[in-house]
Amino acid sequence: MPSRPITERLSAGERLLLDGATGSELQRRGVYVSKGAQEGQLGPWSATANIDAPEVVRAVHEDYLRLGADIITSNNFWTSAARLSMVGLGDEWERYTRAAAELALAARDAVNPEAYVAGGIAPPNMGDLRAEFRDQVRVLAEEGVDLILAEYVGRVEDCATVVEVCAESGLPVFLGVRHVTPDGTLQYGESFEELGAALEGRPVAAVLLMCSDPPAISACLPKLRAVYASPIGAYANIGYHRNPEFHGTPDEHWHTIDQETYPPQRYAGFAAEWIALDAQIIGGCCATGPEHIAALKPVVKT
Ligand SMILES: [Zn+2]
Repeated sequence: MPSRPITERLSAGERLLLDGATGSELQRRGVYVSKGAQEGQLGPWSATANIDAPEVVRAVHEDYLRLGADIITSNNFWTSAARLSMVGLGDEWERYTRAAAELALAARDAVNPEAYVAGGIAPPNMGDLRAEFRDQVRVLAEEGVDLILAEYVGRVEDCATVVEVCAESGLPVFLGVRHVTPDGTLQYGESFEELGAALEGRPVAAVLLMCSDPPAISACLPKLRAVYASPIGAYANIGYHRNPEFHGTPDEHWHTIDQETYPPQRYAGFAAEWIALDAQIIGGCCATGPEHIAALKPVVKT
């Protein structure tokens, strides 16, 4: 367990290295993460790997920790009842949720007790957002994660809702805002001024722009900085690992990105830009791997 709260280190101005992708990295290592995927949607994505391939999930966490990640994200992205119900496992959401937290915590304890485990959860885009988040957060807090990362949130209204629910845990809450645009807006055209107003006075310890093209993050970070005073960060989406086992259609957004465009050194160049724009927490989202985190380390941890 870390000796200092993450919020204290951020307040002191320290920069923290976040891990890279989990789901796409599991896929790259041969884990089938696409159960229940159908045309246009992903099923519960990597949630089933927590029980089907726990040793691989733990190995991904450990690899990121060995490369110097200060924060790893538990594989709870869609361990919600709503998403697991798509593969007939809705009643087992708690088992999958606990397994994900325990794998991340065990990896942390084994490799670097000073690193933080973020319980990372995403809106299921179905069911009752508030109830789904409340269940997940309660279990993650019981398991002993160090913070909650409410990620892949697209709408301003949802950002406010998830922050409020996550804060009920008493843990620091980080918010990950998805698919920001090169035009400097949120996914659905909402403005950063609207986001700032919705977060005003809410207990959110950091806001990160995530799962977006790197140049879009560069365009949006100054807008986020202008409306939000606490620590900010970024972890971009650089593409999608195609897998011959995949029978569904991944998020269309990922098809539009050429992962060859962002080799590790180029990605690290974007990270340098983000640091100049005041980002304090930097890592990688879809299709980034250990090689990207290795390239980020000397840039982020100077
Ligand atoms: Zn992503």
